[in-house]
Amino acid sequence: MTGIRVARIDRAAISANVAGLAAAAATAHVMVVVKADGYGHGVLTAATAALEGGADWLGVADLEEAHALRAAGVDAPVLAWLHDPFADFAPAVEAGIDIGVSTRAQLEAIGALDAGRRAGRRPVVQIKVDTGLHRNGLPPEEWEPFAERAAALQALGRLEVRGVFSHLANTDAESDAAALRAFERALGIMAAAGIEPELRHLASTAAAMSRPATRFDLVRLGIGSYGLSPFGAAGAPDGSAPVRLIPAMTLTSRVAAVRSAAPGAGVSYDHTWRAHEPTRLALVPIGYADGVPRAASNTAEVAIDGRRFPVRGRIAMDQFVVDIGDARVEVGDEVVLFGNPVDGVPAADDWARWSDTINYEIVTRIGPRVKRVAR
Ligand SMILES: *Cc1c(COP(=O)(O)O)cnc(C)c1O
Repeated sequence: MTGIRVARIDRAAISANVAGLAAAAATAHVMVVVKADGYGHGVLTAATAALEGGADWLGVADLEEAHALRAAGVDAPVLAWLHDPFADFAPAVEAGIDIGVSTRAQLEAIGALDAGRRAGRRPVVQIKVDTGLHRNGLPPEEWEPFAERAAALQALGRLEVRGVFSHLANTDAESDAAALRAFERALGIMAAAGIEPELRHLASTAAAMSRPATRFDLVRLGIGSYGLSPFGAAGAPDGSAPVRLIPAMTLTSRVAAVRSAAPGAGVSYDHTWRAHEPTRLALVPIGYADGVPRAASNTAEVAIDGRRFPVRGRIAMDQFVVDIGDARVEVGDEVVLFGNPVDGVPAADDWARWSDTINYEIVTRIGPRVKRVAR
């Protein structure tokens, strides 16, 4: 596949990552998180490859993402957990989407849905409790009254509580242990009110790999499914399940032009780099509008025909320049920005380091001009 902005997506890698992580976690159920267009890999590619790898649940942030899966013909169980405050939950119920509920207002809105609009389906919710992140999720002081109200609505047949879940801060062993204790307390409060959910879940990729006690009935695998470690290039801490992850995205471009530069020649905006000696420069037609981080200007490297070359000058909106010296590089040669490092190319983790961020952001920020080519 040719093109000046192509992200090659290795479906088999996603399936293998999911299968490997699922085997290590050994939970009854496995959810693969395909929010944000499958972490930039293409939501349909991610979802189908995940299901082939053994996932039996898909997770997304919002209902629009869940409906997009349904519209694409994906009928696997889906959970969405972050809602527009004005969201209409009725279409989600009709589409058989599990609704993550974090507020009393959401619970009441779902419990009040008119049966006629529900096409005979009962709303299915999963209660999200906050166990220390202080973001989305029901705060501890609301657990008890909420559990009683949810149980009452369930007894009235107005909804079904399928799950109770939370999310970890992944800060350190102590904070994760405190969150686990809080989660167990929330489960106890729910049980006392009569809510015994089929799905209790707490672990995302990091905890699925490193904290067995957090696995419960289901793990929610995001980044690891795409072959990137939640622990970054540093690797998993001791005691983690040894899972070999295969990066699923290879971001490529093509050399669009080659030119010579004389000593003193300034490259790209602001001339943040100048040639010190005669050299040759290759133009790469992909830029920050496509998600190549401008912060990696003058630090990143790319691979052309198996060799590494440094990015010189500012990464611009549509293009950047690499110093190729006297190497045999020609117009039309493929440029690999990142991919699987076993192939000798930079990793998403390298770009994360070069631009002071995390691998999650490197893959999810890849923009719409980049063609995803799954194979
Ligand atoms: C994004 C997300 C995940 C996936 O996290 P990873 O670190 O990518 O595995 C899991 N659970 C929730 C609630 C999330 O928002």
